[in-house]
Amino acid sequence: MSTKRTGQKKTGLYIGDVISVAGVLLLSFFVWFLFFLVSNGSGVRVIVVEGGSKIVAEYDIRRDCVYDVVSSNGHKLVVTVNDGSVSVSESTCNNRHCIAMGKIRNSRETLVCVPAKIKIKIVSRGEDMQNDFIVG
Ligand SMILES: [Zn+2]
Repeated sequence: MSTKRTGQKKTGLYIGDVISVAGVLLLSFFVWFLFFLVSNGSGVRVIVVEGGSKIVAEYDIRRDCVYDVVSSNGHKLVVTVNDGSVSVSESTCNNRHCIAMGKIRNSRETLVCVPAKIKIKIVSRGEDMQNDFIVG
């Protein structure tokens, strides 16, 4: 009998220990799972960045879809993901350069809409997204 923990019954202590160990395991599994989802689940992603640093949307480039992006200053862009490429198909901005930029499909390419302060960017797994936000 070397245990010196006082104030709790032995069985209660045991169950508490099991729960805390299980909790730590569960938590680490959960964190790992989240990390797995983020790092492996989507591979190459399309991110929509507003104002230079704020990620407002994130899409899987493998999933063909059309997304509406509304900037905080009221511009609406229609982002089309099709066959691994991304383009702005419609926009309410005045110069429509973002539409004229056409399609991007390679990692680190970007589409920029200056009036909307929106940047659409392709990032691949493992790239450091933090260091690459440039106000456009
Ligand atoms: Zn635009």
